[in-house]
Amino acid sequence: MTTPPAPAPSAAAARQHSLTDPASPWVVVNKHRPLSPATYRPADLAQPGVRLATSGEAALLNSTTAAAAERMFAAAAGAGVTLTLASGYRSYATQTRTYNGYVSSRGQAEADTASARPGYSEHQTGWSFDLGDGGGACSFQPCFAEQPAAVWARNNAHLFGFVVRYPWMLHTITGYYYEPWHLRYVGVEAAGDMNSRGIATLEEYFGLEAAPAYL
Ligand SMILES: [Zn+2]
Repeated sequence: MTTPPAPAPSAAAARQHSLTDPASPWVVVNKHRPLSPATYRPADLAQPGVRLATSGEAALLNSTTAAAAERMFAAAAGAGVTLTLASGYRSYATQTRTYNGYVSSRGQAEADTASARPGYSEHQTGWSFDLGDGGGACSFQPCFAEQPAAVWARNNAHLFGFVVRYPWMLHTITGYYYEPWHLRYVGVEAAGDMNSRGIATLEEYFGLEAAPAYL
């Protein structure tokens, strides 16, 4: 007796939510897939009731992600781990300033490894944010991976609909080196499915081409 192969995640998944609409929880933004429109701004930006390590627009998320973050931060606190929101929404204008700053100080090649081009940042969707540790150590540095917040998130974020979007050693697929702090909301079902299948990137999960660099 043979077991029929499980349907490819891409086939099962692509039916449910758009992969191109920036208001969709499954939108895939990478170096091959800019936001459309490039200047997209979520209509429902909200500041989550969580511990903030930032202010202004960076303390905002779209409303679905904000609610999921509140649930996740509360659960972590219950386990004795303090998470902070280090950087959330980033507008097209802010991304333009950041990217152009890198270009003028270091040149475009280095800018492209340090910062997303305007219209190519997942932060602009409101579906993602950078996590900090309550202790404040190692923010945006490789050693963040060993901080309690990162360890807790790696093991539990999927229960709240989040994935670590740029995993270790998968930059040839995602276009970004390991960012243990960068979480992306895709919903509890997809995040749990990715976790149980051991699929680490959205590109693989949705059957999309790898996006190691800008075209
Ligand atoms: Zn980030």
